[in-house]
Amino acid sequence: MVTGGASGIGAATATRLAAEGAAVVVADVAAERGEATAEAIRADGGRAVFVPADVGSAAAWDDVVAAAHSFGPVGVLSANAYACDITPAHEMTLASWERQLAVNLTGVFLGFKAVVEDLRAHRGAVVLTSSVHARTGIPGRPAYAASKGALLSLCGQLAVEYGPDVRVNAVLPGPVLTPAWDGIGEEDRTLTVEGTAAGRFGSPAEVAAAIAFLAADEASYITGTHLVVDGGWSVKKASA
Ligand code: NAD
Repeated sequence: MVTGGASGIGAATATRLAAEGAAVVVADVAAERGEATAEAIRADGGRAVFVPADVGSAAAWDDVVAAAHSFGPVGVLSANAYACDITPAHEMTLASWERQLAVNLTGVFLGFKAVVEDLRAHRGAVVLTSSVHARTGIPGRPAYAASKGALLSLCGQLAVEYGPDVRVNAVLPGPVLTPAWDGIGEEDRTLTVEGTAAGRFGSPAEVAAAIAFLAADEASYITGTHLVVDGGWSVKKASA
C-alpha cells in the first residue's frame, strides 16, 4: 500500500515494490496520475490498482483497504502523501496548518490503524517518508517541518509498541527531483544541489530503493530507524 503513489517518490516506490513481486495499491488524490502509475505497472506485468483517496479522511481508508484485500492481507505500508503550504508561521491560517497536519501526520495514523491487524498477523513493515527538514526545520514551512518531525517520534513509538510483529522505519530524503520542485527557481535549485556532497539531486528511484530495503525481509532486524537518503546534504550542512 503506497500513499502519494501517483507521483515522485511514491510512484517510484510503487513501481519498485511491484517489480519485486508485490501487488500494489496506489492511493492518492490525483486520479489521472494515480491511474497512470498503476497502468504502467500493469503494462510491465506487475499487479497494481489505483484507489482515489485523501489520506487525511478516515472514510477514504475503507476503499483503500478493500482494494488491498482484493489481493490479500497488507504486508507493507509506505506513506508518502504530503501537503506543504509555503507560508511563515505568523501568516499561516489555522485551516492551512490543520490541513497539512491532517495529510502529513493524521493520514499516517489513519493508514496505520487501517492496516495494523494485517501487519501484525503477517509480520509486516511500515516505512514513513519524513524529510531531512524534520531535523533542521525549513524556512517558511512550519507545518511541514513539524509534521515531518512528528513522524520520526511516531516511528519510534510504533516500532516499540507493535514490535516484534511490525517493523516501523522512516526515510529522510534530502533534495529529490520530483514535481514537488516545480515552481522552485533555478537559483534555489543550484544552491540546494551545491549543499549536497553528491553534487546533484537524488532521483525518486534512489529513495524508493531505500524504502524497498526497509520494507523487505532483508531489513528484518531494523526497526525504529531513521534512514537519511540525502546525497550527504545533512553531513555537509553539519560540517559547514
Ligand atoms: P510529489 O508531489 O511528487 O508527490 C506527492 C503525492 O502526494 C502527489 O501525488 C499528491 O497528489 C499526493 N497527495 C497530496 N495530498 C494527498 C492526500 N491528501 N491524500 C493522498 N495523496 C495526496 O512529491 P514527492 O517529492 O515525491 O514527495 C513524496 C514524499 O517525500 C513527501 O512525504 C515529501 O515530504 C517527501 N520528501 C520529498 C523531498 C523532495 O525533495 N522531493 C524531500 C524530502 C522529503
